[in-house]
Amino acid sequence: MKKIAVLTSGGDSPGMNAAIRAVVRKGIYHDLEVYGIYHGFHGLVNGNIEKLELGSVGDIIHRGGTILRSARLPEFVNPEVQKEGLEQLHKHGIEGLVVIGGDGSYRGANALTNLGFPCVGVPGTIDNDISGTEFTIGFDTAINTVIDAIDKIRDTASSHDRTFVIEVMGRGAGDIALWSGLAGGAETILIPEEKETIDNIIDRLNRGKQRGKRHSIIVVAEGVMSGVKLAEQLKERIDADVRVSVLGHIQRGGSPSATDRFLASRLGARAVELLLEGKGGRAVGIVKNTIVDHAISEIINQPHKIDNEIIRLAKELSI
Ligand code: ATP
Repeated sequence: MKKIAVLTSGGDSPGMNAAIRAVVRKGIYHDLEVYGIYHGFHGLVNGNIEKLELGSVGDIIHRGGTILRSARLPEFVNPEVQKEGLEQLHKHGIEGLVVIGGDGSYRGANALTNLGFPCVGVPGTIDNDISGTEFTIGFDTAINTVIDAIDKIRDTASSHDRTFVIEVMGRGAGDIALWSGLAGGAETILIPEEKETIDNIIDRLNRGKQRGKRHSIIVVAEGVMSGVKLAEQLKERIDADVRVSVLGHIQRGGSPSATDRFLASRLGARAVELLLEGKGGRAVGIVKNTIVDHAISEIINQPHKIDNEIIRLAKELSI
């Protein structure tokens, strides 16, 4: 193998740049030519491909987002469109591809692998919703951003005796809400994986009030319901000053944490090794602090599982 390429796809996440840097530098270290494909599968199909040098990835390890940009191309589910992408890869003499992204991006990588082109998936998404890895690149930075926001909101909540509903990202996966809620000391954490009734939430708020608690933090994943809707439901039932804060896209940005940079560097480098070993169709991950790889076809068919022990702990600590 002489030439490989790398692309980022789906939602951006902090640490994607560190992963790109690792792919490029590890590749060049092994005498490969490394190409960057801009704007994900969209750029692949349109031939938006450029050779990257050591210097192309200098000064990016600390930057959020992705220098290769990201895009969505729903038409990439169509085998004809996938073949157009393959033609571009062949035209440039590229023999292997690293795809950094989430579950959808993995499906694109799997499709190309099934057409005979070796791809390796690197989990880049803030949602932490990919199976085969305990952590995805960007998750740690995202939860630190959320914790920072919770701490600040807590200051005003306690000063004004308010109940705050904080809506965080996570349509299908509650990891961001669960981890940041636990680490931020939220009294209530609502995640899509574990249904809670409004009665339970109100009971907990009332119990807290009876023992003199004057403020409360509720973290809700967007996949459960919107923060605004939850606040409306609470206001109908309790006598409290309920405010809402929707954190939105600030959760996606910012300089990656040390943990995310470290993870991205390890995973990006391992992806290149797999291509050099002739092992296409794999997805890299981290389990018990060891870098592992699994078949992408298995990963995309296994739903991500939230850690039930953490759910239990969060409940025990927020009685
Ligand atoms: P995130 O979790 O951050 O949203 P993602 O990778 O899951 O990231 P998607 O928008 O689902 O984001 O997918 C990114 C791109 O991957 C899509 O725009 C499309 O080009 C490609 N893709 C998604 N699903 C498939 C599929 N079933 N087959 C081929 N390509 C796909």
